Amino acid sequence: MYYTTASPRPVATPRNQTEFIATRMTFYSATQSVPPFDVLDTLSPVSTHVSALVEIIGGIALGVLVIWLLVALRCKLKANVPSDGTSESAPPLNPDQIRTELLSDHIGSNALLCSVCENLNFYQIFLEGIPETEEIPLDSLSSILQKSYQCSFCRLISFHVRRTWMLDKFPDVDLSGIQCRLFSMSCGFLRGPFYPRPKFRCYCLHINMEGLREFWERYPTSRATAGSLSIYLMQEDAFKFGRPTDLHSRRVKNTVDIDLVKKWIKLCQENHGDECHNAWRMDDGEDKNLPKYVRLVDVVSMTLVPAPSGCRYVALSYVWGTVSTEYRTTTNNIAERSAPGGLNTAIFPETITDSILFTRQLGLRYLWIDALCIIQDCLQDKIAQIKSMDLVYGLSYLTVMAAGGASARDPLPGCRPRTRIPKQHIEVVQGLHLCVGPPRLQEALALSVWNTRCWTYQESALSRRRIYFTEQQVYFECRGDVFCEDIVAESKGHQFSNNFLRQSRGEYFPQADPFGSYMWAVKECTRRNLTVESDIVDAITGVTNALAIGFSLGDPARVFHCGMMLTDLHQALLWQHDPHTPRARRSLPDGVGLPLPSWTWATWCGAVDYTSEHRYHGIVNGSGEPSVVETFINPWYIVDHSGNTVELDVRRVSRIVSNPMKEEEKSAYSPPSGILDSTALTLDIHRPLAPGTLIFRTTSSHFSIAWRGSEENDDSGASLHHGLFNILSTTSPPIWVGTAVLPLDPMPPPSLEFIVLSRTGTRRVYDEQSLGYYHECVLYVMAVSQSEGLMQRVGLGIIHEVPWNASRPKEKVVFLR
Ligand SMILES: [Zn+2]
Ligand SMILES: [Zn+2]
Repeated sequence: MYYTTASPRPVATPRNQTEFIATRMTFYSATQSVPPFDVLDTLSPVSTHVSALVEIIGGIALGVLVIWLLVALRCKLKANVPSDGTSESAPPLNPDQIRTELLSDHIGSNALLCSVCENLNFYQIFLEGIPETEEIPLDSLSSILQKSYQCSFCRLISFHVRRTWMLDKFPDVDLSGIQCRLFSMSCGFLRGPFYPRPKFRCYCLHINMEGLREFWERYPTSRATAGSLSIYLMQEDAFKFGRPTDLHSRRVKNTVDIDLVKKWIKLCQENHGDECHNAWRMDDGEDKNLPKYVRLVDVVSMTLVPAPSGCRYVALSYVWGTVSTEYRTTTNNIAERSAPGGLNTAIFPETITDSILFTRQLGLRYLWIDALCIIQDCLQDKIAQIKSMDLVYGLSYLTVMAAGGASARDPLPGCRPRTRIPKQHIEVVQGLHLCVGPPRLQEALALSVWNTRCWTYQESALSRRRIYFTEQQVYFECRGDVFCEDIVAESKGHQFSNNFLRQSRGEYFPQADPFGSYMWAVKECTRRNLTVESDIVDAITGVTNALAIGFSLGDPARVFHCGMMLTDLHQALLWQHDPHTPRARRSLPDGVGLPLPSWTWATWCGAVDYTSEHRYHGIVNGSGEPSVVETFINPWYIVDHSGNTVELDVRRVSRIVSNPMKEEEKSAYSPPSGILDSTALTLDIHRPLAPGTLIFRTTSSHFSIAWRGSEENDDSGASLHHGLFNILSTTSPPIWVGTAVLPLDPMPPPSLEFIVLSRTGTRRVYDEQSLGYYHECVLYVMAVSQSEGLMQRVGLGIIHEVPWNASRPKEKVVFLR
């Protein structure tokens, strides 16, 4: 509710910003002494229209009018506005005057602030900022929560803490010992010809908390939910600082403003150039056509049509959930649905009907929805369409991410009235409208069911423009920018600007190099859920196709096998199970194990990582990627889907050896040499080799293993299924020769067979026996088990090359399945 100064004359509409300031200025000092404007408004008709009554109770009315005028006059005087009461004749204020006004003004309007907050000068803080090194102590968190009923600033902090710490769910949490401190951070700045720095730097408030360490020790699992605490200035107050509205907070309405969404798309299209036009380096980018066998929903004629060439269409990414299958396209209804008006929205769930509505609102005609555009009971159609996912999402004009629901039954929040409840919390503090920062894109997605589904990973990664419908608001993301409803970010000078929303990007695909992009995709996909576990390879095919095409690696069907990147096989083999995942094969819908080879991660359930060699030093969450500085295996053969043995084209890496050779280089591991005759690659078992069998020559040796015990850096508390093992020599006494990550079986075997894969980039390996460091002298080895001449992957590790050579390894032709 806004209050304003009463005036017997209508308040003139301000003609320019300065006048507006003068008019608005009167409000801050008048808040406590004047009744609400609408009450006054209703008094006026009473005194003018009912003249008969005026005659009867004229004396009373006159009395009311006199009091009213007196009150109005008092307020005007207090606000230093000319006594004639019109803003038209008020002298224009310059920014310095505004500042003086606000500085003096806030002293009179502190009734709604506690004794701590009333000493803060919020105008000054938003104008000049407070560096983190000079942060201002506020109060203890528990006392701020208590004061939320009396102080509007404490209420803002409390609202934020309650939401991000989920205090309504956990009301008995002990918050003692947490002290809050206030500082400001730049929310970015506007640059370029329009906005010289640093005048247009925009600040938001941040609350630092001291004593969180002890809190997290008390509640270790709460760490993930407690986000950063920030408070924004609303855009309507930006002018008080002489700043444009950009990067300030904006009111989120009950439904999304379609014109705003159109503006976002237009900005991307007109300003971002090739980066967003040709999302993952497809030839021709956006101008490429969808294959004719891809169908689209024509949202005007409500029919399924073959994709018209060059058409603009929207793609939908959503969670099916457990919804009746009635709405899906099948061999029974495809003919009916291909005729005009054949799509009956009455049987469609809300995510689908809302996307049709949204597509129409954007003025677009075509929409791709998997359940409608793929014939769900036709295997042949499904296979062809799934192989085209890279094009379907990569060529879409934009993709709608239904991240606000848990199934197709849920609406797109904000698409229609009553489909969302914006939870923006705004308070007036010393005359400034302040707003609690809503979740940033990543935070909003982290809580969504949509983000836990495996299929949605590639749907998002492959799309050039993404519109996320989350519970609270709509976000736009492309390679160039991130926009959302609650922050004004679509600046004219955006190419030159630094918009803080960009730091909360969702997906970024592809990355600079193909293997890096591949590793990231594997990591993301294997952490997500699949209703049908055996769909894992299909659910990543769009991404692998895009990598093969985008990086010109060759025919996707030859570059990837069962999800493994064959061009970089040396590195691709170096995946590790997440330590908390049991070693179990993915199963087909009928419960039978997936018949994929053991060397691909796609065979196994659960999360997979490509970690650096730090993993073998006991750092569970070590970042970085495995590095291979020398490859030994060449050639590689694989048994293809038709049962033929074909040679693979695998990238080789040679090591640079110093000249003259150092002692350690002379004694380095040397792989078996000589020709491997592909015609002689048969096993002495009387059955053909299964597709996916890898055949190569290397050396093999046996070593003892011993579990190291629980890993120091693992504080997750979850049970371990894979652990670090010391690899020990079989000599007496046994000495440490390497480390491996192996399944934690109740009865681990005393020793295992290992085969050499490549040389690691490990610079320094500590030898616990000699208490010395080794440099680049460590081999990647695979722990294997053998049955009927076929080897299976058990785990992966590193072994120092000197003890390897000393163990008298045997040369072998390996059949790895
Ligand atoms: Zn307070
Ligand atoms: Zn863009």
